Amino acid sequence: MIKLRNKKKKIKITVCPVCGSTNIKKVSAFSGWLLPEEYICLDCGYRGPIVAEIEVDDNETEEDKSD
Ligand SMILES: [Zn+2]
Repeated sequence: MIKLRNKKKKIKITVCPVCGSTNIKKVSAFSGWLLPEEYICLDCGYRGPIVAEIEVDDNETEEDKSD
């Protein structure tokens, strides 16, 4: 059995393709099962199905390095 001891895991976060804000949330179209999911940016007001995704390191900050 192989145990991966990756403390850093990559997580993908959704960002606004217009302003790059992470303050974006998914809105489910109420009447639109034909439509793709839409996202709305709370910062610039962008709304649409296209978002950007970035990968960030999700390192837990419980390990504090004190020099
Ligand atoms: Zn935006």
